[in-house]
Amino acid sequence: MSSIDPKSLLPASIAERIATLSLKDGRAIAVVDAAGLGEAERAEIEREITATLSARSEVSDVRVVMTAERVQRRLIAVGSGKGGVGKSTLTANLAIALAKAGRKVGLVDADIYGPSQPMILGNQGQKPVARDEKLVPVESEFGIPVLSMGHLVEPGRALAWRGPMAGNALSQLVDAHWGDVDTLLVDLPPGTGDVQLTMLQRFKPAGAVLVSTPQDLALIDAARAGQLFDQAGVPVIGLVENMAGYACPHCGEVSDPFGKGGVETAAERLELPFLGRIPLDLAIREASDRGKPVTAGGDPLAKPFHEIAAKVDAWIGARS
Ligand code: ADP
Repeated sequence: MSSIDPKSLLPASIAERIATLSLKDGRAIAVVDAAGLGEAERAEIEREITATLSARSEVSDVRVVMTAERVQRRLIAVGSGKGGVGKSTLTANLAIALAKAGRKVGLVDADIYGPSQPMILGNQGQKPVARDEKLVPVESEFGIPVLSMGHLVEPGRALAWRGPMAGNALSQLVDAHWGDVDTLLVDLPPGTGDVQLTMLQRFKPAGAVLVSTPQDLALIDAARAGQLFDQAGVPVIGLVENMAGYACPHCGEVSDPFGKGGVETAAERLELPFLGRIPLDLAIREASDRGKPVTAGGDPLAKPFHEIAAKVDAWIGARS
């Protein structure tokens, strides 16, 4: 058996990933450290190594072995028809609840109109660094790595982004060094715009969760967002009703500022699963504003988020 020096044959970016490269009886075996690489990059590296080695007269057969655990990363999109319905709040709490349930969760905050995850997850001001021309997600104290439009630009600056710019920004966030993350939640901007289209074209999510308040208008828009996923062949995991039922902090009487039960009824009409209902409660907003979402601690308000996460977890489990 002899060894070949990969550096003399392959580009440095590939050569430095090769742990060993041996040749025996005409068969070359390259062992590649594929940690942090996406499927497309793995395929490209494999193709390049195979092509380069096959071209040599002493090589009759090439085997490329990727050593890193092959992480099957799935994207779960969280969408809404309009802004301000609690999509970011749900995404952050869902991420923490899924992580507590044992999943390796990462979060992409693709909401160009209001990238709020750095605030909600308490890592505002931290900047992601780039390695090999890819971003390294910023850690949060809840074990959830995050990349946000808010990390890329000053708040408010990305508002004017359209088409390719918004799409490329999304690609930078998704196609990053996510390491062993197996479930990437994507907090989408509201509606059905450029970011959604790029998402569906480049990174087809495994499924989508839609959030709405019980208000008719929010519901109609949420149904439209659902239609887009449906047309693209992305299953809607289910609908969540947020800001349902307000318990008066003084007398405890529950009122329904945005109506009641509308999302569940809409889910039935649209033949989509209903995942749960989150009450309107000042403590939920205060927790997010403090950078400590309710699911981070033992707050009783965390319960509906954990119940919704359990359904999403079961949905993922049934498809793995
Ligand atoms: P979106 O991502 O849909 O724009 P956010 O998650 O940013 O919405 O929520 C909008 C505002 O409403 C935030 O200030 C958030 O803290 C607050 N909020 C969201 N859900 C609730 C809730 N269930 N109870 C109280 N406040 C909430």
